[in-house]
Amino acid sequence: MIDFESALSSIRKKQDATIQEIVALLNASGSRQRVLFNTAYEKRNVLVGDKLFVRLCIEASNICGNSCLFCGITRKNKKLKRYKLSVGAIKNIIRIHATQDVDIIQLSSGEGNFYTMQDLSEIIKEAKKYCDNITIGIGHKNFSCYKKLFEDGATNYLAKFETSNAEEYKIMRPESALKERLEHLNYAKSIGYRVASGNIVGLPNQSLYDIANDLLLMKKLGLYMAESSVFCPTAGSEFENEKKGDLDLALNCIAISRLLNCAPLILASSSLAERIGDAFRAGANYISIHAAPEDVFYNYSIYGGSSRKRLTVGHIDKFRKLLVQKELNAGCVIKN
Ligand code: SF4
Repeated sequence: MIDFESALSSIRKKQDATIQEIVALLNASGSRQRVLFNTAYEKRNVLVGDKLFVRLCIEASNICGNSCLFCGITRKNKKLKRYKLSVGAIKNIIRIHATQDVDIIQLSSGEGNFYTMQDLSEIIKEAKKYCDNITIGIGHKNFSCYKKLFEDGATNYLAKFETSNAEEYKIMRPESALKERLEHLNYAKSIGYRVASGNIVGLPNQSLYDIANDLLLMKKLGLYMAESSVFCPTAGSEFENEKKGDLDLALNCIAISRLLNCAPLILASSSLAERIGDAFRAGANYISIHAAPEDVFYNYSIYGGSSRKRLTVGHIDKFRKLLVQKELNAGCVIKN
């Protein structure tokens, strides 16, 4: 059994860790958790400074052909009101919300081909007028599509693997396999995209060893953006009656992903909105703000549905102050 102190000392020195060391760190609570966060916070400042990176996320459509068990927009959720923003509406959102505060524009949608290649090209070219750094998180496409969108100006490819346990992956995401997910990420990387991925903390049947493996996979992938979001049971999903994930465990994941140097950008996910100050304290430096209209945002219920907080441009100054705050900031800081 590895103790917390030796695990922390080892990860600090090597920027790497064994499964057992990561498990020891994942278990940190109380004063040990504060030491873990302090170490990750210092590491962030040394590695990437204290700039807050802001992503403008455009939830283009909640139509999805897949049936992932944790997700509220699964095709099996017959009660959800479906929407698809028109290309014109998306371009308008970009024009209005892509201010100088925005570092990255992200186009997100469920899995399917409801936007044509021409639509996607048009959106990316419009976004490119306002921001150099463009992420696509639109599910699996054929490889020629990734190439074309890269040529059009997309720079980052987002595909969360959610769990690195291949058997659990197949259960959680019946239409896909972990191997396939990783092939898409690796292909995107091979043609020049920076890649973004991560896990969900608190999935049913997930062990601490699974989470430790998730973190090692994030490191192995050589990510640009890493994300550990907390599982939130969502109405209409297969897991709607499951228990919410542990926020402290998700925050510990953020700290460990920083200490492993999994990615320069580590997201303080909106699933952690009630502890966002702590996410920054644990080494996160990246947030997502939402520009889509409110009714659209709440119907984009990937996890959490109506319990998700809608973070907007108006929160950015507060986040900037929180990012450099030395003290832990437990409690709710986002009210909307
Ligand atoms: S996680 Fe993605 S692919 Fe799976 S149901 Fe939700 S939107 Fe569709």
